[in-house]
Amino acid sequence: MNEYDSNRILDLVKKINYTSTKNLSVADCYVLNTCHIREKATDKVYHEIGRLKKEFRNKTKPIVLIAGCVAQAEGDILLKNEKYIDAVVGPQSYHQINNMILKVEKKLKQINLTEFDVIEKFDTLNCHKNSDNRISSYLTIQEGCNKFCKFCVVPYTRGAEFSRSIKEIVEEAKNLSENGAKEITLLGQNVNAYNFEGKKISDLIIEISKIDKLKRVRYTTSHPVDFTEDLIELYKNCKKLMPVIHLPVQSGSNKILEAMNRRHSVEEYYQIIKKLIKVRPDIKFSSDFIIGYPGESHKDFMKTIELMKRVKFINSFSFIFSARPGTPAFGLDRVNEKIAQRRLTEFQNVAENIKNSYRNKLINKTTKVLFENKIKNQNKYFGRDEHFNSVIVESNEDLTGLIKNVKILRGNQNTLFGELNLTFNQTNYAA
Ligand code: SAM
Ligand code: SF4
Repeated sequence: MNEYDSNRILDLVKKINYTSTKNLSVADCYVLNTCHIREKATDKVYHEIGRLKKEFRNKTKPIVLIAGCVAQAEGDILLKNEKYIDAVVGPQSYHQINNMILKVEKKLKQINLTEFDVIEKFDTLNCHKNSDNRISSYLTIQEGCNKFCKFCVVPYTRGAEFSRSIKEIVEEAKNLSENGAKEITLLGQNVNAYNFEGKKISDLIIEISKIDKLKRVRYTTSHPVDFTEDLIELYKNCKKLMPVIHLPVQSGSNKILEAMNRRHSVEEYYQIIKKLIKVRPDIKFSSDFIIGYPGESHKDFMKTIELMKRVKFINSFSFIFSARPGTPAFGLDRVNEKIAQRRLTEFQNVAENIKNSYRNKLINKTTKVLFENKIKNQNKYFGRDEHFNSVIVESNEDLTGLIKNVKILRGNQNTLFGELNLTFNQTNYAA
């Protein structure tokens, strides 16, 4: 979502004649878009400012804006502690960024914009047109969260759940596809909690799938509680809906899920997985895990390992519990640091083995890859298969934007390498 937001910020500042540069030393304005989900987020901001100061020593300093959830949560402190920062802007106030920059240009004092103004934000940022012609594009459909898991800052930094109108989203999807997008990933902190005047994410996906030039639809991040039957059923017939779901579970222990206020049990989670496999047997899952949540015993931890082995997640993001100020879990007794670290390592080893064995099974198999771009200075193309695995093939033909059958030859931790499977490639799926 920060990547999507950063691109929208870039679209906006173009209107006041700013453009992006990869060369930091020539920047007139520096925007740092931040994430507040785990500890050390604020330290990273101070670290970056230190780096900037060094870069601009003996030169005119650029305008410095701190955007995102750290700005939202700790904007006042940042402005007070670091005079190098000109302004802070929370995620719901990005639409006002040009006014901010113009004010700072006029050397007005430090500015703090951290109100929740989500409707006005989307009205201004409306209708992203994919000006950089990406084959795979993001589209935010929902923001914020009402769930209040005890460990999480999102309800405080991103505010309450808000869903954009179907009309507005479909229009944006059409614009993206007109400008080359073949794949759209719908974004939201709780994307499947999407609800606009009774229309759910399944209704939205049906509408978006009607766009002819669009070949693939994904969404992230979904919450188990909002995984309703209509969404499960959609996997039966909607071939544009890709067969991999990121469905965070956090823990395999009911005791811990309850303590986290996750509002579902392990059994209910597993039921969703089972139903999805039934309607779409090739479906795969990835997930988020928090290891060492306050009160997690060895037995609870082993239940998380058990769930990992049972579902065989093809990807996972696991972190030790990070105590976030302002959240209900902040003051709870923590699991001993060394024990938590040991558990994380054990968990990640199990996850890694499962991932490797899945990836090994792909070797010599043929998979459909949507190619996104040519690799610089090489005759190689990068793309993703239906399960979101990164794939690279060599080709003299420009594959950008095409879906091709690829035979996988080998792979490493992050990438699969293959060759075009000529027997299957009579048709271009996405011309
Ligand atoms: N809304 C999604 C859900 O609940 O499934 C997840 C969104 S959250 C922004 C992304 C992930 O960050 C969570 O799934 C969780 O694993 C992780 N996370 C959030 N707060 C955390 C904390 N205090 N410590 C460690 N991990 C955390
Ligand atoms: Fe955070 Fe997700 Fe829980 Fe909302 S549902 S509070 S975003 S972890």
